[in-house]
Amino acid sequence: MPSDCLFCRIIAGELPAAQVYADDSVVAIRDIAPQAPTHILLLARKHVASFADLSGEDLNLVGKISKVGTLLAKREGIAEDGFRLVVNVGRNGGQTVDHLHVHLLGGRPMAWPPG
Ligand code: 5GP
Ligand code: ZN
Repeated sequence: MPSDCLFCRIIAGELPAAQVYADDSVVAIRDIAPQAPTHILLLARKHVASFADLSGEDLNLVGKISKVGTLLAKREGIAEDGFRLVVNVGRNGGQTVDHLHVHLLGGRPMAWPPG
């Protein structure tokens, strides 16, 4: 675990976060600066810097994160009206934390294309 990685430190319990879900491969927390009524970050427990750094053996992990996203959307009551799962990759993609995560956003209509 890189000791300077914000999300690794949150997963390890070294830094506080509003955790809404955890299993052996995924931890979900509320975003500190929510962009929608529901804004949850689905974190891989394993440190992978970004989607662009996924290896073949990590593909299961992506499936698990997707499943947890849908589970939490239902739990948050946003599944019926619809929601968005977002992955920012690299600087142009808007990634600011280099630890694999997916945003779960919902509770309001979303515009397209994204900014
Ligand atoms: P990215 O820009 O890398 O796709 O997403 C990083 C997200 O992490 C941002 O939405 C940002 O608001 C959130 N974030 C940054 N620092 C913290 C923190 O300390 N705690 C929590 N819960 N979220 C954070
Ligand atoms: Zn990390």
